[in-house]
Amino acid sequence: MSGLTKKIVYADNVLARILGVTEGELVSYAQISQGLHRYIKEKDLKRTSAGLPPMTPQAVQEAEPVISSNVKRCKSCDAEIPFEAVFCDLCGVSQ
Ligand SMILES: [Zn+2]
Repeated sequence: MSGLTKKIVYADNVLARILGVTEGELVSYAQISQGLHRYIKEKDLKRTSAGLPPMTPQAVQEAEPVISSNVKRCKSCDAEIPFEAVFCDLCGVSQ
């Protein structure tokens, strides 16, 4: 039962950022759980309206904090690509 409070997980850069600890620091599952709940609350990530599908695994992977406004449109295909992108991810045209 006390396994949840044992500090047995190394926080990588992502986990450390979410939990507000130093990268490489040992954290417990209880801390991770608390930290995630806090993070979700702070970022207002919790779905409030019913009927929406649960997050797909891909969406979870992309849940790392990004500045969503930091994108531009491809000159050629109008796809949304990272602002600093040199080539379009979709059509490969240089920007
Ligand atoms: Zn394109």
